[in-house]
Amino acid sequence: MATLATELELEQVTPNVWTTTKLRGCNPSFLLTSGGVVAIDTPQLPTKAVAMRRAAESHGPIRYLINTENHVDHIFGNWWYRGAGEIVNHQALWDIFMDPHATLDPFAYALEAIPTDDPDAAPLLPERDAYYADLPRGTVVFTGDLTLAVGDHVIHCLWTPGHTPGQLAVYVPEERVVFTGDTIFSGCQTWLMTSNVDQWLEALEQIRELDVDYVVPGHGPVVSLDYVQTQRSVLLTWKASVADAVAKGWSREETIAHVRFDKEFGPVDVGQGYMMDHIQSNNAGSLWDKLTATGYTKGR
Ligand SMILES: [Zn+2]
Repeated sequence: MATLATELELEQVTPNVWTTTKLRGCNPSFLLTSGGVVAIDTPQLPTKAVAMRRAAESHGPIRYLINTENHVDHIFGNWWYRGAGEIVNHQALWDIFMDPHATLDPFAYALEAIPTDDPDAAPLLPERDAYYADLPRGTVVFTGDLTLAVGDHVIHCLWTPGHTPGQLAVYVPEERVVFTGDTIFSGCQTWLMTSNVDQWLEALEQIRELDVDYVVPGHGPVVSLDYVQTQRSVLLTWKASVADAVAKGWSREETIAHVRFDKEFGPVDVGQGYMMDHIQSNNAGSLWDKLTATGYTKGR
């Protein structure tokens, strides 16, 4: 465990909650209960996924793996957790798990990271067809919210759409912790392109009402509940700035050229600095598309 903890830069958030915020990909985590281990998201990099599973299983068998969203950095590593308990997915996540029709092809994007960030993973990688023939997605699939009682812990999987349609916040009252997935990016750039900002703001309000000390975000360091205000400000700034561009009659291209927050909202999370232009352009472009579409309404 000591070497795994070092390799993964594991951080103990509470006596029973572990996470790592230092890997390329999301912040994969696990919770220890008297009824087994519950994993939340999986490392994108294959050798890290293997190591994270071993770290979790050093405390006992994994009962459940909960994914907070469908983006590749949260689910690709499920492949290396196969056979480790039930996989819990919201229906709206399950429907687009590793969606081959996504603008940014998830399998290709996962492979793109291997040569630079995980060269030892080559022998572990399945062929694309093999991955899609045996998708490591939910075996427990639900709509709305889901409550799991595992040993001495109650785990609330709260449906908080906005960043993605099947977004979950995993709230563990006994630990005073919520794992928000990418509803919160702490101290780093926010990816908006597949989002519904109005729903996302509602999701933040839902999270703000929880009685917690620790927020484990999808990316960036663990923060307190106050950070919800910062994330809201980022979303409102993006939306208002693009709305302002639309009001000025700017084209999509003009909006992308001028509405940018490279400097304001921190760096891109670990290992993805080269995606800064992609994030800025697609955040602005996708918001422009939504704000100029006829019939744009709240909740759409
Ligand atoms: Zn993410």
